[in-house]
Amino acid sequence: MAENSLSSRLQMAMRRLTGRGILTEKDIDEMMREVRLSLLEADVNFKVVKQFIANIKEQAVGEKILKGLNPGQQVVKIVHDELKRVMGEDAEGINYASSGITTIMTIGLQGSGKTTAIGKLGVYIRKTEKKNVMFIAADVYRPAAIEQLVTIGKQVGIEVYEEGLKDARDIVTNGLKYAKENKYNCVIIDTAGRLHIDEKMMSELVDVKAIANPNEILLTVDAMTGQDAANIAKSFHEQLNATGAILTKLDGDTRGGAALSIKEVSGIPIKFASSGEHMDTFELFHPERMASRILGMGDVLTLIEKATDAIDEDEAKSMMDKLMSDSFNYNDLLKQFKMIKRMGSMSKILGFMPGMGKIKDAASKIDDKQFDKMSVLITSMTEKERKDPSLIDKSSKRRERVAKGSGMSVQDLNRLRSALDQQKKMMKQMMNMDEKQLDSMSKNPTQ
Ligand code: GDP
Repeated sequence: MAENSLSSRLQMAMRRLTGRGILTEKDIDEMMREVRLSLLEADVNFKVVKQFIANIKEQAVGEKILKGLNPGQQVVKIVHDELKRVMGEDAEGINYASSGITTIMTIGLQGSGKTTAIGKLGVYIRKTEKKNVMFIAADVYRPAAIEQLVTIGKQVGIEVYEEGLKDARDIVTNGLKYAKENKYNCVIIDTAGRLHIDEKMMSELVDVKAIANPNEILLTVDAMTGQDAANIAKSFHEQLNATGAILTKLDGDTRGGAALSIKEVSGIPIKFASSGEHMDTFELFHPERMASRILGMGDVLTLIEKATDAIDEDEAKSMMDKLMSDSFNYNDLLKQFKMIKRMGSMSKILGFMPGMGKIKDAASKIDDKQFDKMSVLITSMTEKERKDPSLIDKSSKRRERVAKGSGMSVQDLNRLRSALDQQKKMMKQMMNMDEKQLDSMSKNPTQ
């Protein structure tokens, strides 16, 4: 998510706020300007943006820093929570019929990913609910649409009821009867998709709704169309009262304009996220995850929360002071290892970090036992050596003694020495960086 402007803008603004004990209105204004611009750039509806900024300002101004979070991080948390709120409640699934057939009517413009989503939804319901699913092909304006549904049905092993290009109302009536006779307990109806909303299509959909009396009316919207998706959703919703949206093609959308606008503009809650051409790329929509994704921060909030739980603030602060000073020694490194262990395994932490997705696999191979090994090496040193790493650096005799005492090799000890050096170097580099460099580092965190 390196190209995500909201996240990089925020990180820049955050740096400016670091070290402040309280947030002034001016600080917030400055930050909000960045947030506003990047939301508009992400194609979020302007009314949503306006409300969004107003809500954040209200929460952020004058708020004292929470224990363990610096002001910048705190604003990010407020922004994150607001992003989450704008996208709605946590993932609501399907409201299944308490008995008999659960009927789901799908609606959406042509090209929005409706047919693909039907295939995925069928697979999802079969898998999670063990239901016997059937599709009804009632998009009767394009022969290709029926063919496409039949192809997907074959691909996923779900029967498709179709009667060619007859009247959609009849097909739905007959299809539901067929489903009952054949002991299906979940039916997903494909309906007419056009390039634009028109009256004829809408009145047909209204009729189909009356015939099917569906438990759910799910609207597919293409995430890549930004706030247009929200306007389209609004038009559909006014006439059909959809129960949820399926946000499709999320794999191609990095900005979140559609996700952030739909609920507020149309009132339709987003229920599912569809993100790829494979049939298993379909899941309940989680506003929390989407908010983190839009911020380009992985699950960084979870990490911050975890860190504040696991680490005493004073302890963390003194660790930072130590890192910034030149006196960072083996005792400090040992403390750091312990802190990391308390926060959870290394691979988990990397998974939470922004931009770390790519190296997560590699990270899962990082053996947390390495920390234990290095800790044993440190405890084999004398107190003097731990406090003054140069003693070890200067004497090969000491190195041999420590290695032997810990039951490890001198190479192991050398790895530990370079870990200490790296920590120091990294801190020095970060302290000497200007904003531009830090920004580029945050854009390419894996470098
Ligand atoms: P419909 O006209 O609304 O039925 O849309 P389709 O299901 O035919 O999808 C339109 C195009 O978008 C097809 O080329 C699909 O392969 C593609 N598509 C659908 N869903 C996704 C998705 O989640 N991600 C990506 N990348 N492409 C998708």
